[in-house]
Amino acid sequence: MAQQIGLFLNPVGQRRVDFQGMYADLFARLFIADGSEQATLLLGQERIDLLIIDLERFDRSFDLEALGELIARRAGAPVLVLCPFISAGWLPALMAFGPLAYAITPLEEGDLRAAIETQLDAPEASVTHADDLRALLALRTRLQQALVDVDDLTSVAEQICVALCDAAGAVHASLFRMDVPGDLQLEAQYSPAGLNLTRVLHRSDRLLQSPLRHAFPGLVAACSNEMCLLDAPAKAGEPELALSLVDKGVEMVIGLPLGSAPGSALAGSLCLMFGRARQFSAAELDSFVALAQLAGFGLRMAAVSRENEALLGRVTQLATVDALTGVANRRHGEHLLELEIKRARRYRVPAALIGFDIDRFKAINDQFGHPVGDAALRTVADVVQSTLRTSDVLIRSGGEEFLIIVPHTSAIDALKIAEKIRVAVAQSDIAGCDRLTISLGVAQLADQESADSLMLRVDAALSRAKRAGRNCVELAMS
Ligand code: GH3
Ligand code: MG
Ligand code: MG
Repeated sequence: MAQQIGLFLNPVGQRRVDFQGMYADLFARLFIADGSEQATLLLGQERIDLLIIDLERFDRSFDLEALGELIARRAGAPVLVLCPFISAGWLPALMAFGPLAYAITPLEEGDLRAAIETQLDAPEASVTHADDLRALLALRTRLQQALVDVDDLTSVAEQICVALCDAAGAVHASLFRMDVPGDLQLEAQYSPAGLNLTRVLHRSDRLLQSPLRHAFPGLVAACSNEMCLLDAPAKAGEPELALSLVDKGVEMVIGLPLGSAPGSALAGSLCLMFGRARQFSAAELDSFVALAQLAGFGLRMAAVSRENEALLGRVTQLATVDALTGVANRRHGEHLLELEIKRARRYRVPAALIGFDIDRFKAINDQFGHPVGDAALRTVADVVQSTLRTSDVLIRSGGEEFLIIVPHTSAIDALKIAEKIRVAVAQSDIAGCDRLTISLGVAQLADQESADSLMLRVDAALSRAKRAGRNCVELAMS
């Protein structure tokens, strides 16, 4: 014969009536409250053995603080919280007020009956054992280490999953991320049990459109930005999903938001699957939340470092490339020439330098205007570039003067290249003005010669080409 007195709290009338109808026999007396005010009153007046707070159908904006006060008021006396699986984030918040046991809803009648009986017979709020704490510490440290070398985003995500599979009983860890707004993707997964989540979810991208977004905790957490705890696959109400999870040995799934607002570029979730369902203590749930935030932070760091690399590339490009023609600028060109000279010397291979200058370019500007002159400069650079090998480097050394580093090439071959360039430019149509010609000077790098000396000799050869009547190639004296 039931001896004990219960108090059931839920704001929905029908729910209170149903509870009373089904479970009143478990109690000598069962009080019913529609909110925390009424519950506080009853707790003050009656000796209540078990307080049951049913969070099912609670409004999202309910006063969590007031419920917390009720738990605090119990001062360790039994409290059973019935929590919808999609709203498990309320649990650590309530646990902060005092000890409680929880059951994840929806629950079969028999399971809820058993949960209540357990609390009436041998009330034990989930307590933290030293071993659990040690395991948590190890897990947090493991994840922290995995995040030390944050570089490539995908590998960070994979490292996070591998680290999290160290959690006791974990059979799978995964990360969901919204890289492109609106497109939630399975970013990484790891399973020591060989489980592949893509098969369970039937896809790995556009997951916001998945019919399982209200059921699979990883997706629920990413969509709602709330912790989601499914301690029996059947509770999600998707028989096929439940079947495929149980088939792979999964009994419990927890989804944790990464900590960014849903819809933001780095929103997403972390999802852990376990081979056995169990109750978590406040410390464990808090740690899961912290782990997810740490993972989110790691991903954000990786994203920042990826952006920095792109920025560095852009800065480097701006510093080394001539804005008008897109070829190497003078400063960068001189640096590359120094490198090529060193390389040629080390491997004892020839290297040549070609210099050229557009003939009577001043007249082009005078006759057609500066913008046409600019376009002509771009065309000449393009035409010359298209005749070169990929190893050759075209440099705009100033105004309408250019240099070409020609690696692994003797004077004879450089002369042939120069001649080919001269013909190509002379035959090119230049938009908005007459055809152009160029004069070229060619020199092969001499033993022990410096870059300055090589450039001076190319310049001298180029001047001779101008004096010889322009539109021709001259070889430098050694
Ligand atoms: P030559 O080299 O055959 O002796 O005659 P030139 O008329 O080309 O020689 P000069 O060096 O006297 O003139 C070069 C001209 O190139 C002067 C300048 O107006 C023009 N120039 C230099 N840089 C640019 C540029 O970026 N854009 C344009 N449109 N013109 C430029
Ligand atoms: Mg000129
Ligand atoms: Mg000039």
